[in-house]
Amino acid sequence: MSATSPRALHDAAIVIDATAPLLSDPSYTGEWIQGGATVATPTIAVRDTPADTLVQLAKWHSWLHQAAERLVHVTTVADIRRAKGERKLGILFAFQDTTPIEWRLELLETYQSLGVRMIGLAYNFRNRVGDGCAEPSDAGLSKFGRSVVREMNRLGIVVDCSHTGYRTTMEAIELSTLPPVFSHSNPRKLVGNGRNIWDDQALAVAAKDGLVGLGGFPPFVSTKPNPTLDDWLDQLEYWVQLVGPDHVGLGLDYFRGESVTDESYQRLLRDQTWYLPDYPAPPYPYPRGIENATKLANITEGLARRRYGDVEILKILGQNWMRVFGANWGA
Ligand SMILES: [Zn+2]
Repeated sequence: MSATSPRALHDAAIVIDATAPLLSDPSYTGEWIQGGATVATPTIAVRDTPADTLVQLAKWHSWLHQAAERLVHVTTVADIRRAKGERKLGILFAFQDTTPIEWRLELLETYQSLGVRMIGLAYNFRNRVGDGCAEPSDAGLSKFGRSVVREMNRLGIVVDCSHTGYRTTMEAIELSTLPPVFSHSNPRKLVGNGRNIWDDQALAVAAKDGLVGLGGFPPFVSTKPNPTLDDWLDQLEYWVQLVGPDHVGLGLDYFRGESVTDESYQRLLRDQTWYLPDYPAPPYPYPRGIENATKLANITEGLARRRYGDVEILKILGQNWMRVFGANWGA
């Protein structure tokens, strides 16, 4: 139990949301600032060409420059501490797929030098590295994929297994010499959605001192159309009980769910970005109580209400991500 109020604990905490596709539009950074986040992680690229990826990186560098009084570009753990100390929002660059490197392993170092610090292996579908979680074949990590994981380890880019097929994740986790993660993945035992992951996948990253970040995309949180913070906390508790409080974090995956129209939804299916049945039709109301990033403090309150101690709460909010980032980035 705690002597600190949940509000004070949240204000003092390092809060890391490791998945934020909504921030393809940086005008939303204010929501994370209002929610007391220390770090938000825009998805810089998914299955994008190197050219489009570089344009997005250039845009972000320019935004960071213009908003230097509010934002800090995070490439080290010290940058995260500095963001907290200066009451700014840290911005961490991540990809959700390896397509931006094409067949050119050396592009990993280029992206790393531009600040990219975490990369997902395969977004739902098959790519050069391995199968995504939508693929019935569930082929494992490719020969090229093995080189990619080794090079990511050499460069200290976090190996992210979210969206990736079962065998590819298990083989990448085994191969990785640094703590790998699922940046935003929910327990399949609780919600039988194919984008969610099995217990042995979560246990495998934990055994490598990595972690599982819990997402908030409603079809992964509940089979009900309108999940609540309590449904989300049930999933968080499931992970904590399975892998322990040192191996769970946040990867809320906020995006502009309300803007997905029927037409854009059909396009996402046609483009082989999303797939049925795991991505049902909109709307996507994020769990009631944490509808958007302005409400992150409700997570701290919810955990306190469920009698989590301060130390555990601080780990889940950000300290676990700090440890994993430190081990990968070397700083
Ligand atoms: Zn995602």
